[in-house]
Amino acid sequence: MADPANSTSSPFDLVILGAGSGGYACALRASQLGLTVALVEEDKIGGTCLHRGCIPTKALLHAAELADGARAGASHGILTTFEGIDTVALHARKDKVISQLYKGLTGLIGQAGIEVVTGRGRLVDASTVEVDGEGGTTRLSAKTVVLATGSYAKTIPGVELGPRVMTSDQAMDLAQIPQRVAVLGGGVIGVEFASMLRSFGAEVTIVEALDRIVAAEEPSISKHLTREFKKRKITALTSTRVASVEADDQRAVVHLESGDPLEVDLVLVAVGRGPRSEGLGLEDAGVTVDRGFVPTDDRLRTNVEGVRAVGDLVPGLQLAHRGFAHGIFVAEDIAGLDPTPIDDVIIPKVTYCDPEIASVGLTSEAAKGAGKDVETVVYPLGGNGRSIIRGTTGSVTLIREKDGPVLGVHMVGLGVSELISEAQLAVGWEAHPEDIAPLVHAHPSQGEAFGEAAMLAAGRPLHAHA
Ligand code: NAD
Repeated sequence: MADPANSTSSPFDLVILGAGSGGYACALRASQLGLTVALVEEDKIGGTCLHRGCIPTKALLHAAELADGARAGASHGILTTFEGIDTVALHARKDKVISQLYKGLTGLIGQAGIEVVTGRGRLVDASTVEVDGEGGTTRLSAKTVVLATGSYAKTIPGVELGPRVMTSDQAMDLAQIPQRVAVLGGGVIGVEFASMLRSFGAEVTIVEALDRIVAAEEPSISKHLTREFKKRKITALTSTRVASVEADDQRAVVHLESGDPLEVDLVLVAVGRGPRSEGLGLEDAGVTVDRGFVPTDDRLRTNVEGVRAVGDLVPGLQLAHRGFAHGIFVAEDIAGLDPTPIDDVIIPKVTYCDPEIASVGLTSEAAKGAGKDVETVVYPLGGNGRSIIRGTTGSVTLIREKDGPVLGVHMVGLGVSELISEAQLAVGWEAHPEDIAPLVHAHPSQGEAFGEAAMLAAGRPLHAHA
């Protein structure tokens, strides 16, 4: 072991490894609660979400929506034409959004008095973290260590990344919009990029090993998305596995286990994200690691006392807002506030393709699997004025326990990403549809569709039949 050049004399209350959503949220909340915090980061504060994930992709997807809006102008009486994509301006706008948020975040971290330690951290034991930085090695002493190193984009074994074969990390910064794209994996990243690249003018084929795209959602949502994608000329090859990928300067070819090979200009590999736990010294320090993930109890404690883990490292949903919630939970738990553990079931999920998907709570299959007597209602956006004005179709599916609370809400359609907040309150507060039905929703709004679904489930529909 290298001799530490510097070492801290008095221990920090918290040493956090990784300044992504989970790590920085933990640092901010802990410092509000009067705890001393060191935040170790080898790259930029903000992590994947801010620099290579949620924020840049949503900026690009917003541009994609504008591109479609330009194409659709004439059907609304607006004389617009779609001329193409200026990728320099596209990325400049996206990068401006990132910089503004980055500036705000670094300001917050600085004002909170959090000690930011730049370099690669490693757990030495339950109370010691060693950081290799530009100025040498620093040893930090901690009462609690929080592991918050997040995840990385996985690839398919044997598939080599390069200029024509990439993951979302590189596809975020495409210098040119490719003509033909194969997206390997029809999960969240796959459908978001497929949707975006189609709006930017590419021909897109999704290759998905399972029998439907967005397989974690209600089957009716996969069906609707597949249909809408088809209208947009996005092809989804389901129950199809990739055999190999070859690429040269000119093109890439995806060989499938069945069917004709796909010749394309770009292959996007979107087959999931893996935990970033290698090289952190976890196993040597006695921390249990299971296929790269760090298992915890519901208070996010690892098997080693004084070591916690948050975010994508912990098995479960890989979402930035779950990371925030985990980070806040750990800070409050250490400060003795006795917070309620975070339950993945009440965490909302939003996929920002066109049409959007937003869901929270149990699917009908999971609810039935949990032994619940379930009732399901579907309110189509075709009956919602604002959705018709926006030119979207879709639905709000509400699942309730018979004579009981709302167990799940599953929505598809442009605009549903903003409807999820009300749905998540209903599921999180275990509201009964009868509690929601009398609450007045603004007209005309897409939120009315959620209100109408609740009215339907409560047996008192207005613009629908029971
Ligand atoms: P995912 O798990 O959502 O989907 C990966 C898909 O790839 C699966 O459907 C899987 O069956 C398929 N697949 C795996 N190997 C394959 C193969 N060899 N050939 C064909 N298909 C194959 O993973 P993702 O889309 O990469 O996203 C990673 C994580 O990031 C997810 O947990 C996701 O929730 C999160 N994320 C969330 C958002 C959001 O909230 N909007 C956006 C992006 C990413």
